[in-house]
Amino acid sequence: MQDYIFNSRRQAAHRRRKLLFRLFLLVLVAGAGAMLAERYLNNSTQHRGDSSRANGDLLPLPPINDTLPAQSQTQPAEADSPAQGIAQAIQEPSAVEQPEPPSSQPAITELPADAQAEAAPSASAPDTAVQTKEPQDTLRWVEHTVEKGQALASIFKQQGLSPTLLDKIVTSSPQAKTLARIHPGQKLRFAFDTEDTLQQLILERSRITRLEISRTENGFLAKEISRPVEKRFANATGIIESSLFVDGQKAGLSDAQIMELAQIFGWDIDFALEIREGDQFHVIFEEQYLDGEKLKNGPILAAEFVNRGNIYKAVRYTDEVGDTAYYDAEGHAKRRAFIRTPVKFARISSRFTRKRWHPVLKRWRSHKGVDYAAPTGTPVKATGNGKVVFRGKKGGYGNAVFLRHGGKYTTVYGHLSRFAKGLRNGKAVKQGQVIGYVGSTGLASGPHLHYEFRVNGVHRNPLTIKLPKTVRLAKNELSRFRKLTAPLVAQLDELRAKTMVASAR
Ligand SMILES: [Zn+2]
Repeated sequence: MQDYIFNSRRQAAHRRRKLLFRLFLLVLVAGAGAMLAERYLNNSTQHRGDSSRANGDLLPLPPINDTLPAQSQTQPAEADSPAQGIAQAIQEPSAVEQPEPPSSQPAITELPADAQAEAAPSASAPDTAVQTKEPQDTLRWVEHTVEKGQALASIFKQQGLSPTLLDKIVTSSPQAKTLARIHPGQKLRFAFDTEDTLQQLILERSRITRLEISRTENGFLAKEISRPVEKRFANATGIIESSLFVDGQKAGLSDAQIMELAQIFGWDIDFALEIREGDQFHVIFEEQYLDGEKLKNGPILAAEFVNRGNIYKAVRYTDEVGDTAYYDAEGHAKRRAFIRTPVKFARISSRFTRKRWHPVLKRWRSHKGVDYAAPTGTPVKATGNGKVVFRGKKGGYGNAVFLRHGGKYTTVYGHLSRFAKGLRNGKAVKQGQVIGYVGSTGLASGPHLHYEFRVNGVHRNPLTIKLPKTVRLAKNELSRFRKLTAPLVAQLDELRAKTMVASAR
């Protein structure tokens, strides 16, 4: 039934992936989407060098501006995101069952030379710092590659350096202490003067970052240096013929990017049921380069999904506070203000009623919330961004959390076995953030979550209430948003126009 996504000629080959993607969708649908997206978007994506029939034409590019978040520059890729875990799992079978690239056209639209120069304003600036520090001809450099299980002390010993010196260095500053974090394969470079005194020590952590420790008159000076990563814009565009995965790959998107795309539009489109042949997608994303060589994909900067004639747009925008999220072209957040359920994989054990028999109180009572039966310890998530207005014991609720969302909405979570670490009154919480764990404290016949949704203090049925759909950017933010995202929106329009012409031929 929902196999439309996977309705492909390579059904057998995609069976494993199908299962994983369903799992992913389940997670998404279960309300974890927002949280995943949040963490996931902060993570760097993986990349794979798929060739594709992506649009290889040069497009007018948006100016490099604040829409590129600065923090992605040297952020190491974390692997602890569940979404990424799934991405990795999916990567495996696909390596075996790689759909043959339909054409040899390059997937990447490179920035024109002048825009590239803009993107990497000082590509070689930090490198010169090393050279100018000491007169190079008087220094003797020795390079050592860290071996498996090798400790810093033994490397020092190999170089004829004393444990006392090592101790002096690592205790000279917190930054210098990070020298101890060495990994196999990393390079250490020692610079000795003519008297064989260590003048400088460089730990090459990665191709991007290194730690430089220099001897000065006042002891050792440690500096962490990052090389600027050059950011380029690339785009991919495609028409659904068999599935989001197959056609996404054909368009040159990595599996991680396809999932990113599915997450971005997860509130608009049910990717399991609503995808149709002829649907289109257009994606503008960042690529990170070092020395002209691609390191990895950056985030999706803008995307469009044409689903059964409806055009959904998304642009990535970092607001003035520094929060990054996806918005439609009018500045409405793609993420909804509230997710429907606060617990994953739970069964509704009691609905909102005006009157019902209370099993513990042994009398008729109205039930002003929804009960979700789930094992004790199941994480309970905030259904919207808000603030903790109560955390503690409250009569029949037992351990309860009350969250306030703006001036109008309050959500209540009762019978918790315990609270999330660090959750305090007045603390801000994000949608999808774990606030506590299912339990049976208070008046509860068994472990379940009692969840209430109140509007202006009045209890409403959380299952049927029309939830406020989206959060819109504040008025004062809107003009900045428009200015910064207009070029991306224009480029999406152009990609769509080109696809229309191409498919009409
Ligand atoms: Zn209840």
